[in-house]
Amino acid sequence: RQAAFRTDLSVLLDQIGTGKESLSFMKRRIRRLSQQWALAAYHLDAKLESRWRDQKKILVHVGFLTEESGDVFSPKVLKGGPLGEMVQWADILTALHVLGHNLKISMSVKELQGCHIRVIDTFGTEPAYNHEEYATLHGYRTNWGYWTLNSRQYMTMFPHTPDNSFMGFVSEELNETEKRSIQQNKVNNMAVVYGKEASMWKPQGKEGFLQILNRYMEVHGTVYYETQRPPEVPAFVKNHGLLPQHELQQLLRKAKLFIGFGFPYEGPAPLEAIANGCVFLQPKFNPPHSSLNHEFFRGKPTSREVSSQHPYAEQYIGRPHVMTVDYNNSVEFDSAIREIMRTKVEPFLPYEYTCEGMLERVHAYIQHQDFCAPEPPFIPANLSRQGFAAGSRTTGPLFVALSNTTALGWSPSVAAPPVWPPLSSLRLLVSQEGQSCVEACQSSGFTCEPAHFRFINNKEALRCLEVQCEVVDSEINHILPAFSVLRQECGLQREPLLFSCAGHSPKFRRLCPCRDFRPGQVALCTDCL
Ligand code: UDP
Repeated sequence: RQAAFRTDLSVLLDQIGTGKESLSFMKRRIRRLSQQWALAAYHLDAKLESRWRDQKKILVHVGFLTEESGDVFSPKVLKGGPLGEMVQWADILTALHVLGHNLKISMSVKELQGCHIRVIDTFGTEPAYNHEEYATLHGYRTNWGYWTLNSRQYMTMFPHTPDNSFMGFVSEELNETEKRSIQQNKVNNMAVVYGKEASMWKPQGKEGFLQILNRYMEVHGTVYYETQRPPEVPAFVKNHGLLPQHELQQLLRKAKLFIGFGFPYEGPAPLEAIANGCVFLQPKFNPPHSSLNHEFFRGKPTSREVSSQHPYAEQYIGRPHVMTVDYNNSVEFDSAIREIMRTKVEPFLPYEYTCEGMLERVHAYIQHQDFCAPEPPFIPANLSRQGFAAGSRTTGPLFVALSNTTALGWSPSVAAPPVWPPLSSLRLLVSQEGQSCVEACQSSGFTCEPAHFRFINNKEALRCLEVQCEVVDSEINHILPAFSVLRQECGLQREPLLFSCAGHSPKFRRLCPCRDFRPGQVALCTDCL
């Protein structure tokens, strides 16, 4: 059956049920954003030019809200507990419904039969932690992870490692009239502090820069409290208490600055602030926080280094909307505040966090990602140097582009699913020693594409790059394919589940499958739709 876009959300709202604070939060959000979703559906429909979209039956198990998991979220919804997950679940359910699929929402593990085909995983799972046997043998086994899935089956909140699929969520969008009125009504000396739980205000050293901030600006907070002001929040702060989402948006529309104290990490609120025309000021982490050195990330199945409170805001948005500074340096902090008061910024929302962007991405995943069919083995039969269009070899990163499938001497059997992302997007690149493929691709303006590892994991790719190999071994190690310049040793990957964009090792240069991406939509290559 062909899937048809839906703009009426009432069936979805009925399906979600009642009786829990977490569900009520999600339903309020879905209702509030319904117009925005409808408009996005209309735009994407036009963009796809009524091409065929399969209607799928999709079972969504909202695991963390179930009785079995104890629904840890509901009791804290109105008390400053985490809301990001509920924001994301509400948006995922809406996107699937709007795309026209057949949803079944499961609230109890009794309804499940051991399937975990796609897993919503806020901070991500790197391949080394995902592969149970490998993780156990090599010290990557943690509290979570080791489900031995295809790593793209984990779907994250932000585009962390491209080894996972980026699911995301949406933020409120403004029309031109709203944008204009926001800019006219901005209060240049009004700051809102990021942190709805009193404990987020406590950690050492906060007093100092709060004092500096207060010298220039009126400081507002949305900290949950029961009867009286939490002692962590200084008296000069105008505390509104935890606000309903739409009231927080109103506050952000007036404020010039949204300021983070280092926690929570990587939440939705900074995107909402930037979308409402605030500058987001946040602390730089030097050294970066990770599962190796920070309690919050300890036990999470990733070695990702978190360079600031919100690396996405830092790396994908940046100035003038985002300023990332060293909070221990009061001179730097002071001048950042003054600069923010001077600069004019427009409301900004990356396309991938608009409703249309999310619908586009989820549509592409549903139509093209297939984790059930085994991938056909890739045999680079007549792969010759003509198969690669060579780029610069001597300066900068080694760089070649695979021209097309025919040149590779590869003809997929009729039954094999088409390659997605299409092979035309592949750019083969070599990392520096110690550099991961995430960084190597990024530094050349591309993104790492794990689905393409299988095309570059062969001697032909090494030969085309003119890598000197004394030996070529095939091993099980998440940094492969890679080679050691010093020892002239080359290694290919024997376990496809361990293909890893994130992996790196000091003495090795890695072979990296990079690809291009659409402006504002890093999950999709130019020809991916
Ligand atoms: N939020 C809210 N009222 C408030 C403060 C925050 O409704 O007073 C919402 C906000 O709109 C955002 C969500 O809480 O969508 C999650 O915020 P945050 O970035 O703090 O992430 P979390 O740590 O809760 O996952």
